[in-house]
Amino acid sequence: MLEVADIFRAHGPSWRQQERGHFSVGQLKVMSAIEQCRSAALGGHALRCSACAQPQIAYNSCRNRHCPKCQAGAAQRWLDARQADLLPVDYYHVVFTLPAPISAIAYANKELLYGLLFDLAAVLAYLSRYTHRVAISNSRLLALDERATRP
Ligand SMILES: [Zn+2]
Repeated sequence: MLEVADIFRAHGPSWRQQERGHFSVGQLKVMSAIEQCRSAALGGHALRCSACAQPQIAYNSCRNRHCPKCQAGAAQRWLDARQADLLPVDYYHVVFTLPAPISAIAYANKELLYGLLFDLAAVLAYLSRYTHRVAISNSRLLALDERATRP
């Protein structure tokens, strides 16, 4: 399976050369960590099966918080823990992005705004009983199906 590290190793050096000056030192360190993760560059240890003497090399991880290989386990553990928190009822995940001018008002009136958002979520949950998917835009509700978005 192709990994981000494979892409970085294959194309990273030429891409960095081509885009020189457009990265921070921190971004370059992340790319380097991902490229070297679980390779001989970071060292490792050799294991040998006591039954068949089959050797196995295990390379060290970069442990960078941006590395998809290192963080995959942590992400799965977090998802499993959140899954355990869920109640045995239907859930609706509704995401709202507020325009910047409203953010300041919302920050000062959290109880009122959250109440309004929960009311809106209840309306969306109600509408979703009658259509496959419901989304909201800046101006009107949209119905979605597997192939298209319709006003
Ligand atoms: Zn890593």
